[in-house]
Amino acid sequence: MRFSTYQVRGRSFVTLYPEADRLYWKLRGEEMRPEGQYSSFGQAFRKTGDQGFPGGRFHTGAGRDTLMESDALHLQRELGGRALTLDEVLRWGEGFGSAERTASALQWLCLTGRASVFPGVDDAGPALRRRCRRCGGKAGQIRTGTCARCGGKCAWCDQCVILGKSRACTPFFLLEPACDRIPPGNVEMERPILSPSQRDAARECLRWLSGEGEELLVWGVIDAGRKEMVFPAVCRTMEEGGRVLWLSPRKEEVIEVAERMRSVFPGTRVAEVHGDAGAHWADAELTCATAPQAIRFYHRFQLVVVDEGEADLLNGVSGWWNGIRRAAAVTGKRIQLTVTPSRSRRRRARRRNSLITVPVRYHGFPLPVPEVSRVWRFWRKVEHRASIPALETFLTGACGEGGQVLLFVPGVPEADSLLQWIRNRTVLRKVPFDAATGGDPDQSGKIHSFLTGELKGLVTTPSVGKGVAVPRCHIGVAGADHPVFQKAVLIEIAGKAGRSGTYPKGRVCFFPSVRTEAQIGAIRDIREWNRLAAKRGYLRTEGEEP
Ligand SMILES: [Zn+2]
Ligand SMILES: [Zn+2]
Repeated sequence: MRFSTYQVRGRSFVTLYPEADRLYWKLRGEEMRPEGQYSSFGQAFRKTGDQGFPGGRFHTGAGRDTLMESDALHLQRELGGRALTLDEVLRWGEGFGSAERTASALQWLCLTGRASVFPGVDDAGPALRRRCRRCGGKAGQIRTGTCARCGGKCAWCDQCVILGKSRACTPFFLLEPACDRIPPGNVEMERPILSPSQRDAARECLRWLSGEGEELLVWGVIDAGRKEMVFPAVCRTMEEGGRVLWLSPRKEEVIEVAERMRSVFPGTRVAEVHGDAGAHWADAELTCATAPQAIRFYHRFQLVVVDEGEADLLNGVSGWWNGIRRAAAVTGKRIQLTVTPSRSRRRRARRRNSLITVPVRYHGFPLPVPEVSRVWRFWRKVEHRASIPALETFLTGACGEGGQVLLFVPGVPEADSLLQWIRNRTVLRKVPFDAATGGDPDQSGKIHSFLTGELKGLVTTPSVGKGVAVPRCHIGVAGADHPVFQKAVLIEIAGKAGRSGTYPKGRVCFFPSVRTEAQIGAIRDIREWNRLAAKRGYLRTEGEEP
């Protein structure tokens, strides 16, 4: 596709469909003076000096503009509230008619102020100021070179490349949502049974929703049941006619959340968007998507919920946050559900009075506080198959009580030698143990055996063990002074013990050679959660009914 520039009253404009512009300016009583043609939208755009069209709508009631307007309205109804590259719009347009018809409708939306258009990547000026319009990627993420698309020297963004390339030579559109809010009305909701802590948090959440705040941080321990706390806020937003976007870190979680939403909100349309599959163009009251997909939306949602899961996956990828902010309507709100917010995020939220803390798991038992058994020259002893009484006692005790053990190590070599050490112990020889680490071809098979209870113990690394959880679990961390065991990692690992209300007594033991700041910090935080939970009256003891 080629892009043209033209002048009206000394101002330059760029278009992807000059016929539409000619009609627009004719209706305004102006004459168009053509200038040049370009194969790169970025180049054409630079000539115009980044100015939008004056906007305005016409109601002549007859003639070509009526046709143009009806096409444009259709396009806006279908694609309004999205941020898309030209390729994405044209792909949608395949069902609409010719590419020209789509382009003319798109151009008409731009002319009448219902869409704005930019090059995918701003590469004007010095290299340091290059920026991706789609994800906000900065100079470090922008690559340059010869482009297969425009044939010239071009720039594209590496950060959002999983959504398809955003380039300097192709236009990127922000389409205003159509004014078709879903009519307000009752939304059917199967109310989940909430624990006292969840009930309080849900109430606070609703109070925040009716206030002025833009962003809410819900900070809770693992298994606090954070999702359920937000359901009433989701429900109210939909009852008021707003759309809701629920973001999860991974595709599997999106599928799971969507499934859950369909059962909680049986009368609601729920769309699932992830990867290349999914209902990208569907219009639904509730959309569940992976975080990067948020970038494809624009001012569409009254409420955006970002569920970070157990890991702080979004921290550090600033681009996704830009997209998430843009996906929310101008008056929209955002809720973040997180386990390990950074100190600055916490402080900011507290200052704005938009922090909800949930210090207890839904079953109400306190978090197990890690015990520390220092073992001088831990790995040397393991290497020499020497006795480590503390570890032996922990392992036999845990397996003896009908429990299972997840034993974390810093890396693959440590996993192998620790497994050899365990198999060498007389008391542990009969206990089925194995190791599952990254790169192991039978990794998932071993994890499966652990989940079914066939294996009593599993030696693993933090990255592999992340998704592994069993109800009767005890946690050991061998070599807990290794730098991979950051405070957040230790807290996350410790949270795997005692997850089930029927077996809340899981132990957590650290076996370091020396104490580290991370261990001390993790223990302090866990104690602080328990103290807070006790103070608010959420804790219950074993045998007590919830
Ligand atoms: Zn980008
Ligand atoms: Zn190009």
